[in-house]
Amino acid sequence: MNKTKKLILGYDYDDLVNELKYLPDTRHYNIKQIYQWIYKKHVNDFKLMTDLPNELRTKLNDKYTLTLAPPEQVSLAQDGTKKYLFKFDNDKYVETTVIKEDKRTTVCLSSQSGCKYGCKFCATGKMGFHGDLSTGEILWQLLAIDEIDKFTNIVFMGMGEPLDNAESVFKVIKLLIDPNGWGLSNQRLTLSTIGIPDMLIHCIEKTKINIAWSLHSPFDDERHQLMPVQNIYPLQTIIDILYEYKYYFSPHRKLTIEYLMLKDINISKAHADALAKIANLINARVNLIPYNPHLHNEFLTPNYNEMINFQEKLKNKGVITTIRKSKGNEILAACGNLYTNKKKIH
Ligand code: SAH
Ligand code: SF4
Repeated sequence: MNKTKKLILGYDYDDLVNELKYLPDTRHYNIKQIYQWIYKKHVNDFKLMTDLPNELRTKLNDKYTLTLAPPEQVSLAQDGTKKYLFKFDNDKYVETTVIKEDKRTTVCLSSQSGCKYGCKFCATGKMGFHGDLSTGEILWQLLAIDEIDKFTNIVFMGMGEPLDNAESVFKVIKLLIDPNGWGLSNQRLTLSTIGIPDMLIHCIEKTKINIAWSLHSPFDDERHQLMPVQNIYPLQTIIDILYEYKYYFSPHRKLTIEYLMLKDINISKAHADALAKIANLINARVNLIPYNPHLHNEFLTPNYNEMINFQEKLKNKGVITTIRKSKGNEILAACGNLYTNKKKIH
């Protein structure tokens, strides 16, 4: 990227108007065209914006850019899962994974480099926090990958806590949903969060995308051991919000509880009972996630029978539940395994 040029990737329509209105001879309809070239047609070279006057294309090209550095590294697992490593300004490393399953191609976007929340089981949590990503940096993860025109779903489940970088993440969602922008359907987007009350409410009220809440233990003390965030935002606070807003969800807009299965820790009958109670109260389905082992901690993955038994207990209580297939383990691309060695644990 040319450092002297200003990045306008990630600007919404109003931002573009504010930025470009002083550029001589730029009309409002030109700005609409530019917006569509960027977000609808995914063109990141001003020279290729063929319906703009030549002079304007040159002026834009002199002053602005729509690109960042290409991925530094790409790894491919045998099951087809792909991991891209990006380096953004100020040494912010992030990873983006692409998971293929049947007809679905899901891009797992990062919203921050590292994470502040330090969940004990999570490799990203061990990296520490290295900065929020801008709207442009989040979008670049879609624009710079081979699957740009092939993906079917997007999950905000990569590095970081999306609701801790809510302003950028909500803007990205807006650009992706806008029919004059990317034009994706809300149903294809899912945001995964540990639950940050104000922003969670905002996400439920102001967007229509699916929400996945990372619960991992239905018991306060234990959740606190696993997820220090429990200290600031206790379970009951999030349960109350999701209960109050449960009618915002439907078969078309899913509310999911994500529940990591940790051997000998959180898969007992008492856990299943308490988890089922919460899921039934807030009308959520439960996505059971086999713990993905990594080098940075010593939890164990339950065996197949233990996982199926836990799932059966939930089903018997009327909970809709699936066990997530672990993909991309060999390249450490699976959820919670996003950890760049570029950033050592301090
Ligand atoms: N910060 C957000 C989104 C990123 S983490 C959140 O926590 O929800 C995405 C998912 O991966 C979360 O449900 C998280 O709990 C899970 N995860 C973290 N570490 C994991 C591991 N080692 N194995 C499997 N899933 C893990
Ligand atoms: Fe951060 Fe989510 Fe990992 Fe917790 S699980 S440390 S919130 S990325």
